[in-house]
Parts: sequence; C-alpha cells; structure tokens
Amino acid sequence: MKYVRYQFRETVTYGVLEGKTIREISGGLFGSRGETGVTTDLQHVKLLCPCEPVKVLAIGLNYRSHLGNRTAPEKPAIFNVPTSALLEPEGKIRIPPDAEDTHYEGELVAVIGKTTRGATPAEAKDSIFGFTCGNDISERNWQKNDLQWWRAKGCDTFAPLGPCIVTDFAWQQYGIKTRLNGQVVQEGRFSELLFDPPAIISHISQYITLRPGDVVYTGTPGNTGALKPGDTVEVDIEGIGTLCNTVSG
Ligand code: MG
Repeated sequence: MKYVRYQFRETVTYGVLEGKTIREISGGLFGSRGETGVTTDLQHVKLLCPCEPVKVLAIGLNYRSHLGNRTAPEKPAIFNVPTSALLEPEGKIRIPPDAEDTHYEGELVAVIGKTTRGATPAEAKDSIFGFTCGNDISERNWQKNDLQWWRAKGCDTFAPLGPCIVTDFAWQQYGIKTRLNGQVVQEGRFSELLFDPPAIISHISQYITLRPGDVVYTGTPGNTGALKPGDTVEVDIEGIGTLCNTVSG
C-alpha cells in the first residue's frame, strides 16, 4: 500500500494512493483507519509530508561508499533533527544567507508504526510501518565547526520528506538515486547499509521511546555535493517514488 497525506481545498487528510487516484481514509495512519469512499485525483491535491512525526532521528556514516577514509562506526551514529526542519514534496529548500557549503543527502526513511522501546532487531523490524524518501540537507561548514548539528542539519526546510509511505517494502531488494538538475549524483543499494533499519531502530529504542509517526533517516550513499539557488534535487527510490524539491533563489 502507498499512503499519502495531502491538502485538498481547506482539508488535510490521509489517503491511499493508487496510480493517480487518492482514496481518502479516516482515523489517521495508525488508528482504526478505514476508507471513506471519497476519491480525489492526485493532480488536484497538494502533497504534504506523509506523516506527522514528534521525533526525527537520523544516522550518519551508514554506507561504505560514503565513508571515504573514515573508519566504519562500531555503533550507529545517531543524531536528532528538529521537526521544524521537515519540508513537504515540491517545497522550497531555503539556504540561510551565511551558509556556504550546503549539500543534498538522499536517504531511505523508516516510519515507525508502533510504540517501540528496548526492541530487539526482530521486534524493531515489526515496528516499522513503512518507508519513504528523505533528503538530509547538511551545511558542511557548520557540521564540521559547531559543537552540535542543530543548524548544520536542522535549519528550517533541511529535512524534505515524502512523497508517500510504502508498506511491506523489502528494502534489501531496492536502491536509491539522487538527481541534481536531472543528473544522477548519488546511487546506492539498501543491501549496502552498514546498519539496516531494524538494527538502527533497535539501537535508538534502547535509549529513546519511538512512537507511531516518528521517522528515522537511514544515511546517504556515495558522495554529496553543494546546492545553489534554482537547483532541483530529486531523491528517487525504486518502489516508492520521487521526492522533488527546488532550492529557493
Ligand atoms: Mg545523512
């Protein structure tokens, strides 16, 4: 199933996406959801971030192709991103005027479906509702020089998310591409993840209780590059779809 969250006229709701048609659901994603019988054409709605997380977590250094000459971490290298950084599909990325080296990072994102605390990897696998695409926008100078990553990865609009959540997604079989102005600039397979989604979520859940709707960005493959005003960046995951954002001028 593909789930979307969208605005149609004044109403924000969730729906099931099939082809170009959205079938509205009631009860939210995690409650007793049911279809209302109302359908809407995809082209008439504004897609929003596909869930409403209370927590956004992310992992760094999770592909060998992204390590360069750094050694692989022994434990998942987790950090927090404020929810105020979330950006909907087609939303504009705003780079602060004093940022000088702001990079894209295309990533697979896991959406938590149940309260998860102290989970084993097997339990963590079962706690995943589905997967979507994310872009972990990162200002490299601040990432290197600030004590914390609060602004390097947390500025408003630095966490694009969407366009839909896919359930029953066998990530091991799929891959990701990031395109900058139409050119492929990153490519990876999820079988190459150093810590897979259950391992990451299990680790996080030893310290932090995850709740339905929370999201975990699972790291970026290969090399990243800088964004500039006017750029279009697309994160394309086979079996999910394309998250497209432009950089505001
Ligand atoms: Mg990242």
